[in-house]
Formats: sequence, structure tokens, C-alpha cells
Amino acid sequence: RSKDDGGGAAHSYDPQLHVQAEERRVLEIALRSALENNQLHLNYQPVVSAQNGGLAGFEALLRWNHPEFGNISPAKFIPLAEDARLIAPIGEWVLRTACHEAAKWDSGARVAVNVSTEQLHSPNFVELVTQTLAQSGLPAERLELEVTESVFLREGTGAVKMLERLLALGIKLSLDDFGTGYSSLGYLSRTRFSTIKIDRSFVQGASQGKREAVAIIRAVVALADSLGMSTTAEGVETEEEYHMVYRLGCTKVQGYYFGRPLPVEETRELVARASAASAAA
Ligand code: C2E
Ligand code: MG
Ligand code: MG
Ligand code: MG
Repeated sequence: RSKDDGGGAAHSYDPQLHVQAEERRVLEIALRSALENNQLHLNYQPVVSAQNGGLAGFEALLRWNHPEFGNISPAKFIPLAEDARLIAPIGEWVLRTACHEAAKWDSGARVAVNVSTEQLHSPNFVELVTQTLAQSGLPAERLELEVTESVFLREGTGAVKMLERLLALGIKLSLDDFGTGYSSLGYLSRTRFSTIKIDRSFVQGASQGKREAVAIIRAVVALADSLGMSTTAEGVETEEEYHMVYRLGCTKVQGYYFGRPLPVEETRELVARASAASAAA
């Protein structure tokens, strides 16, 4: 029982909060050794052309399999890694692994790697990307980095300049989860993103008949078109959702309807089948 009972204190004991704090502490300790214990690996989710279903590339998605706790979602442990200053080594491992694995695919399929804002602002990041491309042999144009709007949030960090240095390497940039965070259309016009990724919440909203969600997808597609960028609809789960985002003009689609995130061996097989099919066509 809480000592605060009846005491009229400003805060009262919240068992839920306590569990969360304890869980975070336990996970943080486990995460510190996850890399060295080989508990992390990448899955790859196909991204396809909305027009003809052709393979456009893959998004690398981090997975953590803990021997005791099982699979832990990146939505849970990435924010934890950012708070605990573990995102730099984990993010570096993700980048190196994705580039080395994608370099072995026997086609020009692109690999997209999520980069957290914390990681992007580290002074060595551009050098890390340069070095990783050289070591893996992956051509720069086959690497895409996914960043979120929060990269522009911190004033005076030179985000636009840093993104320009990355673009100068010949890589692609995409803007992830667009519309869910702070959006500054000014920044959007100052950075040469190849693709704007429309968050699943809008795809879902639109398929549920929400007019605002439809209006937002339309507006983002129009904006992207006028800036010479393409759009990827995220989280497309059904044929109906696919038809809807296609009608709204999205250029690429990604979601369970086209494929779940796959282990690396299955990804290689899919790449091989896709390049054989396009060679036969
Ligand atoms: P994200 O970058 O927006 O990635 C898309 C998320 O949507 C992935 O979740 C993917 O598995 C999920 N998804 C794909 N298709 C569908 C669908 O049809 N329906 C639904 N409901 N979900 C779908 P995941 O793998 O759990 O990753 C969650 C988030 O964690 C990612 O969102 C990204 O922000 C972050 N993340 C994942 N891997 C990394 C990484 O290597 N580095 C960093 N910094 N963040 C990562
Ligand atoms: Mg992403
Ligand atoms: Mg996303
Ligand atoms: Mg998303």
C-alpha cells in the first residue's frame, strides 16, 4: 500500500507507473548486452511500385529476440536505446549489417535504413556512412536513409547542411512517418528527399472513410509531385487499402498485403525470384 494514502500528497502511488519504470530499467540493462550476445538481427520488408507491383526495394527493420523476454518491438526498445545513449552503437550495427547484406543481393534492389534523429546529429555520422559504403561495396544510390521530421526540430543543429553532405555521397533520403510529427513545409522544400512516406494512420483512416485522412493523403501526394518527390503509403494491409492509395496517386506501397518483413535468407530468395521474373519479361 502507498504511504500517500489519505495524506493529501500531490502524488499518489501508481503501481502501473512503477511497473513501467521497473520494466524500462530491466530492458535497458538487457539491451546493453544485446549486441554482443547476437540478439539483434534485421528483417526486410518489400516496398513495391503502386503501378505494377514491381519490387522497388526493402526497408530494413530491427528485431530483438531476447532468450527470456522473447521478441521485443522496436517501437518499445528504440526510444529506450535513444534515452540510454545506446542508439549510436545499435544504429551503426544496423547500417553496417544492412549495407553488407544488401550488397550481396543479385539485383539493384535498394535498401532503406531507419536512422534516429539522435544518431544523425552525431558528428561522425556522415563519415560512418561513407566508410560503410566503401567497406560493403554497396553502390551509394542503392542506400536510402529514412529520417523523421524531428530531425528539423532542433534549432541551430545544421540539419539541412548535414543532410546535404549525405546527399552529396549519392545516397537517397526519405521522410518517414510524414504527418505524425512536427512538419515544416519550408524544410521539406530545402532538402532533396526522394520519397515522402505517408504514415499508416492516414492509410487506415482513409480506408475507414475518414475524409480528413483522404484529404491529407491527397495534399501530401500533390505536394510531393510538385517538389519532384515520390510517395510511399505505409502499412497497406488489404486490397481495398491498396486500391485507395493507388487512386489517390501514391507511387509506392508497403505493407502486409504485399509482404511482411522477412528474414535475410528469404529476402535474398525473393530478390532472386524478382530479378529472374523481370529478366524473363
Ligand atoms: P517505421 O520505420 O515506420 O516502420 C514501419 C513499421 O510498420 C514496421 O514496424 C513494420 O513492421 C510495420 N508495418 C509494415 N507493414 C505493416 C502493415 O501492413 N500493418 C501494420 N500494422 N504494420 C505494418 P516495426 O518493425 O515494429 O518498427 C517500428 C518502428 O521502429 C519503425 O517504424 C521505426 O520507426 C523503428 N525502427 C525499426 N527498426 C529501426 C532501426 O533499425 N533503427 C531505428 N532508428 N528505428 C527503427
Ligand atoms: Mg521507416
Ligand atoms: Mg514509417
Ligand atoms: Mg510509420
